[in-house]
Amino acid sequence: MFDFDFRFLNTDNKPTSFFDKQGSIEDEGVYFAGEILAFEDIQEVVRHRNRLSFILEADARTAIDEFLLPDFNGFMIRVNEDEAFDIKSMIDRKYTQIQVEKRKEELKSQDELHNFRKAECPTCKSHLDLSYLKPTKYIFCRYCDSIFNKYGNYTDLNDYKICPVCNYYNRLQITPRVEAYFYGKEDKAFSFEKAYQCDSCTERELRPRFWKNAPFVVGAITDFIAKNRIETDIDSSYAELTKANLLGYWGQIEEAKPLYESMFLYVKDQPGVLYDFGKAYLDSALLLLEDAEFTGDEAAMPYIREAVRWLSRSIQMCSNYQPAIKLFEDNEELEYEIDDDFEDNDY
Ligand SMILES: [Zn+2]
Ligand SMILES: [Zn+2]
Repeated sequence: MFDFDFRFLNTDNKPTSFFDKQGSIEDEGVYFAGEILAFEDIQEVVRHRNRLSFILEADARTAIDEFLLPDFNGFMIRVNEDEAFDIKSMIDRKYTQIQVEKRKEELKSQDELHNFRKAECPTCKSHLDLSYLKPTKYIFCRYCDSIFNKYGNYTDLNDYKICPVCNYYNRLQITPRVEAYFYGKEDKAFSFEKAYQCDSCTERELRPRFWKNAPFVVGAITDFIAKNRIETDIDSSYAELTKANLLGYWGQIEEAKPLYESMFLYVKDQPGVLYDFGKAYLDSALLLLEDAEFTGDEAAMPYIREAVRWLSRSIQMCSNYQPAIKLFEDNEELEYEIDDDFEDNDY
């Protein structure tokens, strides 16, 4: 059905063979150098650029166990970067369909079939289990990190996703990063790499580096290109997002607030932007709490309340929006009081 080249990786992300091996995706499962992994045995596939991690079900019976990693019921492979998204999506489509069917049977046997609900992602075609979740305007696909609406239309702009570096929702790009400056023995650098991150992270890195690189041509040109890239092709309704998230990251919510509010004139129901506003409040509150032994924690309370308000709104628009749910889970020890007018539904 679909053939691909791959190499198994060890725990240091290094290939275990010198030459590529042959893989193929078939109706019954995925073949790795002739050994089959059945779709039923896959719990999840996680991608980081050209690397795919296969997490197996606890009771999986597979012939590729010689490549299972220690302390991890799974294995990693490296594939061609251009094919990585498609390979993952083709596999996701198959095992998620099996998982969602299983879930349906399970609920049926518990007489809970009326609570079963599912959707199919228009981007990667994965099957999503939405059982027990409130139907909302938007649906999140955790397999390809995209947001779509209930009519099945893809609604994310370009490459707007959660940034793996700062965890804000923004446009992700591959950005060249060169450090080539020399200011004496203690302060010199020459490195070249590519970073996959959001525009705010690129901007944050450029600020201190730009002036150091400026007199040295190689670094300066690359920085100029990077700076140019974060300032082009931005959808006008998201124009302030990079700056707003950067301020939020630094805990400067009062400066960030008018920028978010100006975007809500156009995109007031977008789960990603609502999430960003909540996260900016949360980051500002957490920074205040770090100093709480000197200043007390009262100052952080209104920020926590606002964080809860905006994150809740994000979930009201998209009941399975994993990034917002995760922020709630990660910060469940934070205490706050809920306003009386909290449940306003003017959105
Ligand atoms: Zn998807
Ligand atoms: Zn970022």
